[in-house]
Amino acid sequence: MKKIIITGGTGYIGSHTVVEFINAGYEPIIIDNLSNSNINVLDGIEKITGKRPTFYKADVTDNFAMDKIFYENDDAIAVVHFAASKAVGESVQKPLMYYRNNLNGLINILEQMEKHGVNGLVFSSSCTVYGQPEILPVTENTPFAKAESPYGNTKKISEEIIQDTLKATPALKAIALRYFNPIGAHPSAYIGELPNGTPNNLMPYITQTAIGIRECLSVFGNDYNTPDGTPIRDYINVVDLAKAHVAAVKYLNSHKNDKQFDFFNIGTGKGSTVLEVINSFERSTGVKLNYKIAGRRAGDIEKVWADTTKANKVLGWKAEKTLDETTLSAWEWEKRLRVKSEELIVKSH
Ligand code: UDP
Repeated sequence: MKKIIITGGTGYIGSHTVVEFINAGYEPIIIDNLSNSNINVLDGIEKITGKRPTFYKADVTDNFAMDKIFYENDDAIAVVHFAASKAVGESVQKPLMYYRNNLNGLINILEQMEKHGVNGLVFSSSCTVYGQPEILPVTENTPFAKAESPYGNTKKISEEIIQDTLKATPALKAIALRYFNPIGAHPSAYIGELPNGTPNNLMPYITQTAIGIRECLSVFGNDYNTPDGTPIRDYINVVDLAKAHVAAVKYLNSHKNDKQFDFFNIGTGKGSTVLEVINSFERSTGVKLNYKIAGRRAGDIEKVWADTTKANKVLGWKAEKTLDETTLSAWEWEKRLRVKSEELIVKSH
């Protein structure tokens, strides 16, 4: 079975990607330091797939640990590198932590790939590299904007580090996937997003409000230049996004791929406003959401959505799930999480 090393494999996108690789007949090897995820995620993966993946608790910034893991798995055909810090606001407060984690982690991974002859990389990039584009939808040719946060800057610099490394190491190939806004959960509700503390992102804030953990969702601004005044994003179902990584690994190693480095937008190709997401949630779940219009959030972009033609044509990948299916899956996961944590609370007494 073909091995894939997946860093950050117990995280939100990572865990869904592990499931899709197992479903496609690969053998994922997870590396995660559990700093923003839980070991129980492995149970969820096992329930869905019937397989428990190999797991290493290790930090990608620990190069000795990476050397050992790559030595033991030098027959892997690719690395999917998710492990990184991802909170935009926190990155403004702790820039050095973000540069250290995200850049040192990537540098170590590239070094170990070179050393142990693991030649394919799929890198988690972000639409944040485009900033507020002048022309929509955003294609891959849209120029990079000045990064709005240290987090965004790490994604931009990471793509540059990868390209420079590839130039010096002809055997390596890499693909950067530029994610738009991943939301939702696996339809089984065995895995999903586990936000730390108060969520910053829209979807977990919606589900936590609906379940009663938060009192009210603040909609950050309704005076933008959009049809209903609220900002537009391209919300991509996390299972669809996970499948893009399988397509990327297949393409990376196929004879069709004549590029050492390539990059793809991974979104639905369709923009939705905040109010449209709320409406979808209420429609798909039948739950009424308590929300109010509040002031704009500093640093928010007005509108962005993807042109996904390149990923559709070259990777043969396309987002399939509807927004309603996706908001419903987020709700099913939130409900399960509550039941589970109540069980845990009862057990711990
Ligand atoms: N948003 C909101 N209330 C919240 C969280 C988010 O109105 O409590 C809005 C936010 O202003 C943005 C959209 O939801 O327009 C998506 O925000 P998120 O933080 O999920 O993603 P990002 O802004 O990074 O694209």
